[in-house]
Amino acid sequence: MSTEQFADRHIGPVADDERRMLEAVGYSSVDELMDAAIPEVIRWHGTLDLPAPASEHDALAELRALAARNTVAVSMIGLGYHGTHTPAVIRRNVLESPAWYTAYTPYQPEISQGRLEALLNFQTMVTDLTGLATANASMLDEGTAAAEAMTLARRASKVKSPVYVVDADTLPQTIAVITSRAEPLGIDVRVLDVERDELPGEFFGLHLQYPGASGAVRDHRPLVEAAHRVGALVTVAADLLALTLLRPPGEIGVDIAAGTTQRFGVPMGFGGPHAGYLAVRSGLERMLPGRLVGVSKDADGAAAYRLALQTREQHIRREKATSNICTAQVLLAVMAGMYAVYHGPDGLRRIAGRTRGMAARLAAGLRAGGVRVADVAFFDTVTAVVPGRAAEVVAAAAQRNVNLRLVDADRVGISCDETTTGGHLAAVWAAFGVDGVDGDVESALPEALVRTSDFLTHPVFRSHHSETAMLRYLRRLSDFDYALDRGMIPLGSCTMKLNATTEMEPVSWPEFAHIHPFAPAAQTAGYRDMIAQLEGWLAEVTGYDAVSVQPNAGSQGELAGLLAIRAYHKGRGEGHRDVCLIPSSAHGTNAASAVMAGMRVVVVACDDDGNVDLVDLDTKIDKHRDALAAIMVTYPSTHGVYETGIASLCAKVHDAGGQVYVDGANLNALVGFAKPGKFGADVSHLNLHKTFCIPHGGGGPGVGPVAVRAHLAPYLPGDPLAAHADERPAISAANHGSAGILPIPWAYLRMMGASGLTRATGVAVLAANYVAARLRGHFPVLYAGNKGLVAHECILDLRPLTRSTGVTVDDVAKRLIDYGFHAPTMSFPVAGTLMVEPTESEDLAELDRFCDAMIAIRAEIDKVGSGEWPAGDNPLANAPHTAAMVSADEWPHPYPRSVGAYPGGTDRAGKYWPPVRRIDGAYGDRNLVCSCPAPEAFES
Ligand SMILES: *Cc1c(COP(=O)(O)O)cnc(C)c1O
Repeated sequence: MSTEQFADRHIGPVADDERRMLEAVGYSSVDELMDAAIPEVIRWHGTLDLPAPASEHDALAELRALAARNTVAVSMIGLGYHGTHTPAVIRRNVLESPAWYTAYTPYQPEISQGRLEALLNFQTMVTDLTGLATANASMLDEGTAAAEAMTLARRASKVKSPVYVVDADTLPQTIAVITSRAEPLGIDVRVLDVERDELPGEFFGLHLQYPGASGAVRDHRPLVEAAHRVGALVTVAADLLALTLLRPPGEIGVDIAAGTTQRFGVPMGFGGPHAGYLAVRSGLERMLPGRLVGVSKDADGAAAYRLALQTREQHIRREKATSNICTAQVLLAVMAGMYAVYHGPDGLRRIAGRTRGMAARLAAGLRAGGVRVADVAFFDTVTAVVPGRAAEVVAAAAQRNVNLRLVDADRVGISCDETTTGGHLAAVWAAFGVDGVDGDVESALPEALVRTSDFLTHPVFRSHHSETAMLRYLRRLSDFDYALDRGMIPLGSCTMKLNATTEMEPVSWPEFAHIHPFAPAAQTAGYRDMIAQLEGWLAEVTGYDAVSVQPNAGSQGELAGLLAIRAYHKGRGEGHRDVCLIPSSAHGTNAASAVMAGMRVVVVACDDDGNVDLVDLDTKIDKHRDALAAIMVTYPSTHGVYETGIASLCAKVHDAGGQVYVDGANLNALVGFAKPGKFGADVSHLNLHKTFCIPHGGGGPGVGPVAVRAHLAPYLPGDPLAAHADERPAISAANHGSAGILPIPWAYLRMMGASGLTRATGVAVLAANYVAARLRGHFPVLYAGNKGLVAHECILDLRPLTRSTGVTVDDVAKRLIDYGFHAPTMSFPVAGTLMVEPTESEDLAELDRFCDAMIAIRAEIDKVGSGEWPAGDNPLANAPHTAAMVSADEWPHPYPRSVGAYPGGTDRAGKYWPPVRRIDGAYGDRNLVCSCPAPEAFES
C-alpha cells in the first residue's frame, strides 16, 4: 500500500536519503530532530483530526462528486463577471503549464524575461485600452483595485476633505470593498447618484463605473471637469472589452482607471482568481501600488525587463508604502495579456461588437414584446423594467438554465458576453414571455462616446494570431524562464514546494471554472461544501476556531485579521487601542497592513540572535500599554528560527490588553507539530500559495485565509453583497475570494492526511538543517535556535565575505544561475544575506547539487579574495553568462569560457541559458518605460 501513498510522491527524500541527512545533522530520527528543534512550550503532541489520506485517484473522484453538485448555467448576471472562451492554446500552455504556473515572482529578472515580457504585454494592453500612461502588473480583483485607487487619490489630492464620492451605479461588491477599506482610514464614502444628486462642496476623489452596473454608458466628461475644479481625482472602473468600442477614460482627463481583466479569457471560477488592473495618468506612476514591469538594459546594453520602482513597495517602505499588496495575479494577467495578443485589436473589436450586437437584439426583442428597457446607451448589459414581476422572470429564466440579475422587485439585469448565443436570447425572451426578434438590430452609440483612437498597435498584438504562432510564442517565452519544472527554487519565506498535477487538474473542470460568484445558492452546493471542508481542515491544522478563505493573498488576510482585532476592541469599548507592535525583522506587508487597518506601527527591536528583544518588548508595551491593539509576529520567525520566547511574548501582550497576530507564512514549519491557535495567538493568516501547494504563478494567484479564535469569529470577512448588514468587512469582491483554486489545497490536505502532513513538516525542517550543516563551514549560518538548529529555512551570511573580497550577495545569486539554480531569497530579512528554504519536496540529489554549487561558489569567491581573479572581471562579477557571451568570437576575460558557462559539473546537455546578461535596475528606474518597447530596442 505504502507505494500508493501520495505523500511519497510529494516528499522528495526517500528513507535512505532521510537516514543520510539525519546523519549529517546528527540525529537518529526526524522525531528526535523535531523534539530538539521545537520549543516544548508550543509543541502540540496530538494527531491531526483529518480524514485518512486518499490516493490521487480517490481524491479526484471525491472532487468529481463535489463538482457534480455545482450547476453550470448560462450566466447573464454580469456585475463584472462574464462568460468567456479561454483559447485552448492559452488554457493548455499557460494555465495548465508548469513552466508558467510554477514560476516565482520575477525578482531575479535574468531568469524571468519570459513572464516579464508577458506582463509588459498586459500592462501595454491596459494602458492602450484605458488611454492612460502607466499600468501595473495586476491587482487582486476589481473591488480591491478600486479601493487602492481611492487611497491613491487620497495621497495624490491636495484636498483636505475626507469625502470620497462613489457613483451609485457602481458594482455593489466594489462599493462594499471601498467602504470597508475607507472606514479605518477615516475616509467618508458618499454613495450618490451622480447624474442627479449635487456633488459635495469638497471631496478628494470621485469613483465612476463605465459602463455602470445597470449597463448605462454615460458621458463622464462634465463630472471629470467638475471634480478637477475642486482638486479631486477621478477614478473610472472601466470594462476593458467595452473600451475597444467606447471612448477611453484617459481621453477625458480621468486620473485613474481600475477594473478586472476576467473576461479576457479567464474563467469566472466562482469569484476568482482573476487579474485586476490599475492604471494612472502621467505624474502618478510613482504612487502606483503593486508591481510594475519596466524596461531597462543588461550588461551589454541590450534591452531587458525587470520589476521597476520597487522602492515604492512595502518590502522597502514598510508603513510608508503605497499599499500592502505583495502577491498579485500574475498567472491570470499573463492569460489576459495573451488573450489580447491572440485576438489582436481587430479580434477584440469583433468580440466586443458581437457582444454588443447580442445586447442590442435582446433589448429590441424585449421592447417588441412590450417590455420596458431602460432608455440609455449600453454596451453589453440592459436593464428591463417589469413592475412587481422581476423575481418571477428571474426564476423563469433559471428554469431554462439561464441566470439573470435580480436588481430589485421591478428590475432585471441581463448581460451578454462572448459566449452568448441566439439560443440564450430566446431563453431570456421566453422567460419574459415575449417572442423576440430575428436578425441583427441597428443600434448606434452616441457619437461622443465612440472610440476613435487606435490601440494595441505594437507588433506583438499583430503577430501571433494563428495557433502555431501563438504556441511558439508561449514556448519561446517560457523557455526564457527558470521555474520549478527546471529545478529547485530555494526561496526562504516563500515555500516553493511541489504543486502536484492532481491538485491542479480540477481547476479547469467546467463545474469549478464556469460558476458566477453570485450564482443562486442551489447551483453551488458542491463548491460551498468543498470550501466548508477546507476551512474546517485549516482550522484543525492551525488550532483556531474559525477560518475565512475570502482574502485573496496573504496581505489581504493580514488586513482582515487586523480589522477583526480592531472591531473586537471597538466592541468592548476600547476603540482607542490603535498601536500595533511589529518586530524589525517582519515582512514588509505587516507594517503596511497595520496602517491600512488604521493602526500606528511601533517597531520592536531584535536581539543579536535574531529573536524579538523581550526587553525592548517590555519597554514598548509599558510605553503604549493603554493604546496597545496588537502585536504581529511571524512564527517561526522570518529568521527561520523557532523562538523560545513566543509563549511569554503572547502572555505579555495579552496582559496589556493587546491581541496576538501570528503571520502564518511560515506554517510549513509547524503543521502537525504546533498550532498557533493553541500556543497563544488570536489570529493568523495562512498563505495557501506557500504551505498548501497553490502554485506561485510568477507572483500570484494566492489565497490568504484568515483564521481566528472564537472571540474574533464575529468579525471575519462577510459576503460583499451583504456586508452592510453586519460588522463583517468585505475584504475581496467575491464572498469566497479566489474560490476557483481552492481544489488545490483541498486535494493536498485530502491526499496527505495527518501522517503525510506531519512527515512533510519534519522533512522540510530536516532538509533546512541538512543544508545548514553542509554549508555552515563555507558560509556562516546567521541564526539558530535550540541546540543550534534552524526551522524550515536558514540564512547564509555573506557580509564578511563581501567585506573581505568585494563579492556581493548579488554576484552569488547571479552566479547560481550559471550553475542551474534560481537564487535563494536575497537580502530579506537581513541585507547582504541569502535565505534558503529547501522544502520537503526536493530530493537529496537536488539538495546536494545545490550545496555543491554553493561550495564551489565559495571556492570561486576565494580566488577573487586571493587576487587570482581580478575583482571587476571574474565569473561572479560577470554572472550570469549567456550563450551569446561565451560563444562570442572574442573572449577578453581572465578565466576560460567553460568556467563561465559550465562551472562545477553543470549538466551540459540540460543547461539552462539565461537570455540576457546582468540587468541594470537603476537605469530603468531613472528612465521609466512600462509598456512594450519598439522592436529596435532589442538590437544590441
Ligand atoms: C509571503 C509573505 C507575506 C505576504 O503574503 P502575500 O500572499 O504575498 O500577500 C507576509 N508575510 C510573510 C512572512 C510572507 O512570507
